[in-house]
Amino acid sequence: MKPSILCFSGLDPSGGAGLGADIESIVAAGAHAAVVCTALTVQDSQKVYGFTPVDPVLAQKQADKVISDLSIDVYKSGMLGTLEMIDRVADLIRKNPRPYVCDPVLVANSGGALTDTAADPKEVIRAFRRLLPLATLVTPNLPELERLSGSSDVERGAQSLLEAGAGAVLIKRGHATVQEALSHGKTESNATQKTSLIKNTLWQAGEDPIDLYVARLPAEFHGSGCSLASYIAGRLACGVSLSIAYTEAELWLQSTLRAAYQSHVQRGADNNRQLVPDRASKF
Ligand code: PLP
Repeated sequence: MKPSILCFSGLDPSGGAGLGADIESIVAAGAHAAVVCTALTVQDSQKVYGFTPVDPVLAQKQADKVISDLSIDVYKSGMLGTLEMIDRVADLIRKNPRPYVCDPVLVANSGGALTDTAADPKEVIRAFRRLLPLATLVTPNLPELERLSGSSDVERGAQSLLEAGAGAVLIKRGHATVQEALSHGKTESNATQKTSLIKNTLWQAGEDPIDLYVARLPAEFHGSGCSLASYIAGRLACGVSLSIAYTEAELWLQSTLRAAYQSHVQRGADNNRQLVPDRASKF
């Protein structure tokens, strides 16, 4: 039987991120992807315009049926959208425990909100923190880490998520600027310049952190976070250890980014921003 992942993710109709990205990444990792859709976003290849949450009762019924029929090895969550969806997913995982990769999606890379903007932001963070004790791995980027931990210091932030119960924390520093990366010698000119190497770190309780450096490529990508977390979930389901799954996923993601393609119609000189990682590229 093929290892299976149950994903909870939003639909990006442009196919760059969300549940489409999850399925492609899990298949690339050698596993089967079952998906419960949490929200329908309105977005194109460049921007999120809004979203409508899926009825959480419907999502719960779908998940219950899948869990009682398929042999689910690992859960993965991405965009959950609303407080109620977060709490239902937490409940479901508590009742049917499995290894769980939690990508704490709050905002799209393009800036659009992917959580309920009407909800109290503190409540949203509290709800996400309720997922942490259930998570084998949580994969925040720097803005998500700061919001989830309340700390702008990466090490302190990672420790705080481990103390809140996460089994491991993978910090993605794609948003890091030169100024943040250097604690000394800051200058005005490099305040917003991005680092040329991206240092990602896996923290596991009681173990030395594992740093991996990846080259920053000269483009923006749509769905890279979803892809990385889903590929790790896929490799975990295949029985690989977390440290190896993480290393394999970083190598795989680099190859998908190097092969990334433009999915949108070119409409002007400045319309060549977000590319889609080629998750079907040979690795
Ligand atoms: N999930 C959905 C449905 C999305 O639309 C997006 C971004 O647009 C994301 C997750 C996060 O995407 P990324 O992997 O680029 O952070």
